[in-house]
Amino acid sequence: MKRILITGAAGFLGSHLSDRFIKEGYDVIGMDNLITGDLGNIEHLFPLEHFTFYHHDVSTFVHVPGKLDYILHFASPASPIDYLKMPIQTLKVGSLGTHNLLGLARVKNARLLIASTSEVYGDPLVNPQPEEYWGNVNPIGPRGVYDEAKRFQEAITMAYHNYHGLETRIVRIFNTYGPRMRVNDGRALPAFFSQAIENKDITVFGDGKQTRAFCYVDDLVEGIYRLLLSDYHLPVNIGNPDEISILQAANEVVELVNGSTSKIVFKGLPKDDPKVRRPDITKAKEILGWTPKVDRMEGLAKTYEYFKKKLDKS
Ligand code: UDP
Repeated sequence: MKRILITGAAGFLGSHLSDRFIKEGYDVIGMDNLITGDLGNIEHLFPLEHFTFYHHDVSTFVHVPGKLDYILHFASPASPIDYLKMPIQTLKVGSLGTHNLLGLARVKNARLLIASTSEVYGDPLVNPQPEEYWGNVNPIGPRGVYDEAKRFQEAITMAYHNYHGLETRIVRIFNTYGPRMRVNDGRALPAFFSQAIENKDITVFGDGKQTRAFCYVDDLVEGIYRLLLSDYHLPVNIGNPDEISILQAANEVVELVNGSTSKIVFKGLPKDDPKVRRPDITKAKEILGWTPKVDRMEGLAKTYEYFKKKLDKS
């Protein structure tokens, strides 16, 4: 039986990945320090024989007894609001945390996949963004703590690959959505859904003309699964290239939320907010045979069901 360590397992992506690897018949060790993660996302896994959970901060030395075949490093605050609130922890988990996991991967002879991000492209001057694009990042702006941690994470991962011959994989994750996103993480879709469900004003930042391309979580998990098992060690974009304006996203959410009386209001645009973002997924198609399958209306409907239940309970 293959054994995999997933850091950030109680988070949005980490919990879906834990589900997937359990389903594939792996022994899964979830690790999380729970600063942004939620045990509710993985409580259904606790009774399973092949799931173990460690409450641990990977920025300090990581010890896992026994063998490991794979490590997925998904621990990090990941929404602009979160990493503004926790700038030092964000820098540490991307740098020190990654270093610890690289060391662990070496002693265990495990393959490590790190969660990188479209934020490595910053406020891109090229659209869509291919993996060869180096990006346009402000290191000392509000997003710098996340962007530079992730850029360093890629650099140290490549160094371990090149110098130590470690088996590594790098996924650059574009905007992803779906059930288990935190209601109050400040991201556009959770904000719009909770505002529309509660008939509050929908807060669109700037003029709403900035674009994003939203990938449904199941598609993302499939791409990551394929990348981990592939033999390709350079970065691969995984995301849905269906690019829309944020204003359109807000309108779609309000339309979907039956009977919502919310009105759109425009607020100031946060500093360094990327004006455009869209993945070039040629590599994922060619190397992994992967394309996203879930269209936005279907994905948004499933996400709506989740937020409706979540907000009903609170
Ligand atoms: N945004 C918005 N209203 C909100 C939250 C976000 O208009 O209540 C905008 C944000 O300024 C950005 C886009 O939506 O242009 C996507 O933001 P998100 O935080 O989801 O992720 P990002 O892609 O910026 O990392």
